[in-house]
Amino acid sequence: MSGDSFYLEQGTKAKPGINNDGKRIKLPKIGWVRLHEPLPITAFHNCVISRKADRWFIAFKYEIEQPATSPDRPIVGVDIGIKELAVYSNGQTFANPKAYRRMSRKMKRLQRRVSKRVKGSNNRKKAVSKLAKLHLKVSNIRKDAIHKLTTYLAKNHIEIKIEDLQVKAFLKNHKLAGAISDCGMYEFKRQLEYKTQNFSSKLTVVDRFFPSSQICSSCCNHRHKMPLKVRVFECPNCGNIQDRDLNAARNIERWFEGIFIPERSELAVSSTVSACGVDKSDSSHAIATVKQEVNTKITHVQLSLDLGSSG
Ligand SMILES: [Zn+2]
Repeated sequence: MSGDSFYLEQGTKAKPGINNDGKRIKLPKIGWVRLHEPLPITAFHNCVISRKADRWFIAFKYEIEQPATSPDRPIVGVDIGIKELAVYSNGQTFANPKAYRRMSRKMKRLQRRVSKRVKGSNNRKKAVSKLAKLHLKVSNIRKDAIHKLTTYLAKNHIEIKIEDLQVKAFLKNHKLAGAISDCGMYEFKRQLEYKTQNFSSKLTVVDRFFPSSQICSSCCNHRHKMPLKVRVFECPNCGNIQDRDLNAARNIERWFEGIFIPERSELAVSSTVSACGVDKSDSSHAIATVKQEVNTKITHVQLSLDLGSSG
């Protein structure tokens, strides 16, 4: 036994050491152990039993047939969202696991509890163990969500295009969708790398200088600044109005080496701000300007009347 895990051999065919009926597993010396979730009934040569927090896990290797890939899979661009876990260029979204937020709140509470308890006390030990369990649960939820996302992408598309995640992490920092923040970013890319190999699809990482959220994905001819708080892309050139993340995902999908990147214009940013009514002084200024114009017109009319009467 090393650390919190140990290794077991299967033994011989005549006298197998490990048995498995799908719901339970028989281990040498320990006997039958009930499983938390069903195991595939299959032959394996050895396994590792390990402990995380206060739970025990079994890991083993077995052979499976390579899944068949469908030949007509399209290209997809993926934007790692703020609100959603991911937004695909075909308009579909992959939602954040709902349990995640609730768990984060609970975790903060437990962390406070640990820090309040006296060091070395039994109560502190209990609180620490509870916190460790919750950490494991949260990390499992995160892993599960990322696995489902990356499997779906790799299995159903010829080519998957994603952004350079280092840049993404820097731009969005902690505002990122819960489950894919921090280490989730690297896990997302790592899983896509090996899963695209497994399913014979291709992973393309878009150039880090490509301004995917700033360009209009409809006319491709307009580009303006997109601060994070602006959630909708509005193109003054072609009238395209689109969710920020979907617009970015579409740009990511159509990216190729040497793609045309328009000059950045200041046009749409100011119009978005006044349309939202965020800046009140701006709108009152606009009203004042209109009044002034009316006044000027009246003066102009009177003046021409005067001219007419004298002439
Ligand atoms: Zn446009």
